[in-house]
Amino acid sequence: MAKSRFEYVKNYELPDPLMPNAHIVVRVDGRGFHKFSDAHNFEKPNDVRALDLMNRAAKAVMEEFGDVVLAFGESDEFSFLMRRQTNVYGRRRSKLNSAICSIFTSAYVFYWPKYFPNNELLYPPTFDSRVVLYPTDKEIRDYFSWRQADTHINNLYNTCFWALIHDGLTAREANKELQGTDSKQKNEMLFTRFKTNYNNLPAYFRKGSTLARVDPNPMPVTLEPDVSDDVAADSATSGVQTPVTTDADEDDASAQPRGAGGSAMPAKRLAKRKPYEGTTGEIVTMHEDIIRNPFWRARPWLLA
Ligand code: ATP
Ligand code: ATP
Ligand code: MG
Ligand code: MG
Ligand code: MG
Ligand code: MG
Repeated sequence: MAKSRFEYVKNYELPDPLMPNAHIVVRVDGRGFHKFSDAHNFEKPNDVRALDLMNRAAKAVMEEFGDVVLAFGESDEFSFLMRRQTNVYGRRRSKLNSAICSIFTSAYVFYWPKYFPNNELLYPPTFDSRVVLYPTDKEIRDYFSWRQADTHINNLYNTCFWALIHDGLTAREANKELQGTDSKQKNEMLFTRFKTNYNNLPAYFRKGSTLARVDPNPMPVTLEPDVSDDVAADSATSGVQTPVTTDADEDDASAQPRGAGGSAMPAKRLAKRKPYEGTTGEIVTMHEDIIRNPFWRARPWLLA
């Protein structure tokens, strides 16, 4: 096709590749979810339907991009870690950032009726997102520790806050009561005043949600129906994790384990495949500690 004389403006689109080999994290966060959660009558402090919906939207991102190996979510945010060597979109920052945010947002809206069958969506929820690069495993470990520590701090505060509200205090009074308290004092308040042992609250609320690939060698998947059932079943059981939640999508065709053992894939088809097509290893949802070593030691492929 002949080029128009206007075509030169394309040159103003400057390349924005992310540094090779660095760990890529994309964090999505709901815009104005304080208001959104009020408007849609979220249960406080933790609406499980809303958390399940967030997890489903995160899974959609992982299904779209096989190179997203790990995701961690709490409240209205989700962080996605990409395989270190990923070449999705040639590592172009704006493509990656916008596609992940769009897939997440779109899935959140698409699956809304499934998780909130009795709550009409009153206006379109929106999310923003950012890309952050981390040079070494240490920073990645610290990044996810930071988010999970944040989950704990917020949940402890919110649990106290809403206990006080349900006890008849105004928001102002509850905030004042909690001002300057450390976590020991908050635990104490929950225990003596509200007969609640914080550690017995669901791990879902205390630890957030971690979605991880089980397959140490994520291999491409063909969308053609010739992957043998044996191979798919193998990959579904090869992980070391036990999912803590039952996935709400088990009846979905899209939730079937589609990851296949790579050795079954003809080299010719492998070569033809674009890096971001299809899904790779099965995805499991957990509510575990990801600050300490065991989680990472059991899954060396996450940082490989
Ligand atoms: P911003 O646009 O700056 O991100 P925001 O209103 O979204 O503002 P956040 O700091 O992101 O503020 O906090 C999200 C808020 O959404 C929480 O404080 C909480 O009120 C609400 N929220 C999110 N998820 C849930 C949930 N599962 N159950 C109850 N409330 C929730
Ligand atoms: P990519 O993901 O690389 O953008 P793409 O399939 O979206 O790939 P585009 O170059 O963006 O390719 O082209 C969008 C295509 O969508 C068009 O070529 C056309 O086939 C289809 N399309 C978009 N809008 C319409 C429309 N209003 N009516 C009919 N077809 C449309
Ligand atoms: Mg925000
Ligand atoms: Mg927000
Ligand atoms: Mg937030
Ligand atoms: Mg297009």
